[in-house]
Amino acid sequence: MHRSFWLEEALAADEGGPAAALTGDRRADVCIVGGGYTGLWTALRVKELEPGCDVAIVEADICGGGASGRNGGFLTTWWSKLGRLIKACGEDEGLRIACASEEAVNAIEAFCSENGVDAHFRRGGWLWVATAPAHVGIWESAIAECERHGVHELVPLTPDELHEHIDQPTHLGGAFEPRTATVHPAHLVRGLRRVALERGVRIYENSPMLGLRRTGAPRVRTPDGEITAGSVALALNAWGAAIPELSRAIVPVTSDVVATAPDQALLERLRWTHAEAIADARLMVHYYQATPDGRIIFGKGGGTLAYHGRIGQGFHHDPRRAAWVTEHMHRILPATAGAPITHSWAGPVARTDDGLPIFGHLSDKVVHGGGYSGNGVGPTWIGGRILASLALGRDDEWSNAGLVRAPGRAFPPEPVRYLGGRVVREAVRRMEESEDRDEKPGRLVTALAGFAPAGYARGGGRRRRT
Ligand SMILES: Cc1cc2nc3c(=O)[nH]c(=O)nc-3n(C[C@H](O)[C@H](O)[C@H](O)COP(=O)(O)OP(=O)(O)OC[C@H]3O[C@@H](n4cnc5c(N)ncnc54)[C@H](O)[C@@H]3O)c2cc1C
Repeated sequence: MHRSFWLEEALAADEGGPAAALTGDRRADVCIVGGGYTGLWTALRVKELEPGCDVAIVEADICGGGASGRNGGFLTTWWSKLGRLIKACGEDEGLRIACASEEAVNAIEAFCSENGVDAHFRRGGWLWVATAPAHVGIWESAIAECERHGVHELVPLTPDELHEHIDQPTHLGGAFEPRTATVHPAHLVRGLRRVALERGVRIYENSPMLGLRRTGAPRVRTPDGEITAGSVALALNAWGAAIPELSRAIVPVTSDVVATAPDQALLERLRWTHAEAIADARLMVHYYQATPDGRIIFGKGGGTLAYHGRIGQGFHHDPRRAAWVTEHMHRILPATAGAPITHSWAGPVARTDDGLPIFGHLSDKVVHGGGYSGNGVGPTWIGGRILASLALGRDDEWSNAGLVRAPGRAFPPEPVRYLGGRVVREAVRRMEESEDRDEKPGRLVTALAGFAPAGYARGGGRRRRT
C-alpha cells in the first residue's frame, strides 16, 4: 500500500506492529467498522458515556490508513459553512453545530495535551484566499451569514494584511479565521488509536468487513472471523459510497497531495512563518500548510471519481496527478519552483451535495456516518458524538442532531453518475482555467460546472450560496 508522508512518519514513531486480525466468533456491545477519526472518536465517546461497554473496531487496513492518515491537516471549523448548516438543520441547530465545530478544535487540543499525543497542534488560523480574480470576495456571504448571528470569527483582509501572512502575488484577496489550527494528521489518528487501546477498545486491523447482517443482532463478517454485536456503527466515510442506501448521497473523489523537502528559508522568503493553513476558493481547491520542520504540504481536490463507489488504486497514488498538483503548486506559489518534491500521495474525499456529512440508521441496530467533503479533521469529533449516541440508542442532542438525516438521492445512479461526474469535472476544470486567465467561461461550461457538489469551503457551482 502506498502511504502518505504523514503516515510513514507516524508509523516510524509507533511502537508495535498492526493489531491482530479478527479470527473466530466474537461478541461486542458496539462494533465499529472503520478505524479513522470517526471510528476512533466514536469508540472513545462510547467508553466515556458507558465505561463498561465492550467496544470493538474492525479496520480493513490499519487505523489511519484511510483519509485520516493522509489529509492536509487543516483543523478548521464549520463557520464558513454556516449558511449550509442552517439550510440543512434549521437556524438554531445549524448554529449549535457550527459552535460544536469550534469546540472540536479546542477538544482536540485538550485531547492531545491530556494524552501525550504530539500531533504538532499549532493554532495558526485559516486563510481563505482568492487565487483568481473571479474568486475575490467569495467569502463575503459566509462572513455576512456569521455576522447575522453575532459571530465574528471570519474577517476579511486587506491586500497588505494578506501579504503579511503569505507574500505571493497570486494571492489576490482573502479572509482569515484566527482560531483554527493545523495538525500532523497521522500522529493524531495514531494517537487516538493508542488511547482507544489504553481504554480497553479492542482493535482488529487487516480485517475488511465482507458481509453485514443487519437484522436481529447485527453481525460483521471478515475473511477469518465474525462479530455479533448489540449495535454496529459504520464509520467508512468514502468507502460508505458502496452501501446501496448511501450510493446516491456520497461521491468519492480523489484529493492529491505533494510534500516538498524541508526548507525554512523558503518559508521565510514567503513570510509564511505562523503556521497558517491556506485554501483557495476553487471547487478543485488548492490547500497548503507548512510543517514545523519547513516542508510545504500542497494538495488539490477533484482529481478523479470512483465508479460505483469503488476505491481503486488511483485513490492511493497516481504519479501523473502528482505532477499535475506540482505544476499547480508552482503556479499558486511561484517561489516553490525549485523545491524538491519528496513525497506524493492521494486519498478519497467523500463528497455530499451540500458538503456536510450524513448520519443515520441503516436498520434498527446498524448506524452510519460520513461524507465530510474534505472538511473532517475537526468535524469527525462531532461525528463520533453523533455515532456513539446513535449506537447506544440514547435520546440526546447528538442522536437528534440535525445532521442525522435521510441520505437522499442527490446524485444519479451509475453509469450516469460516473460519466456525468466526468463531464462536470471537466467543466469545472475549464471554468477555473478561464478564470485564471481572467476570462468569462462559456455559458455551457458554467451551466455544467453548476452541477458540481459543494467544495471545501464553498457551495457547488456558481449558483449556490457558500
Ligand atoms: C488528501 C485529503 C486531504 C484532506 N484534507 C483535509 C484537511 O486538510 N482538513 C480536513 O478537515 N479534512 C481533510 N480531508 C478530509 C478528512 O481527512 C476526512 O474527512 C476524515 O479523515 C474522515 O475520517 P473518517 O474516519 O470518517 O474516514 P477515514 O479516515 O477514511 O476512515 C474510514 C476507514 O474505513 C476503513 N474501511 C473501508 N472499508 C472497510 C471495510 N470494508 N471494512 C473495514 N474497514 C473499512 C478504511 O480503511 C478507513 O481506515 C482530506 C481528505 C483527503 C483524502
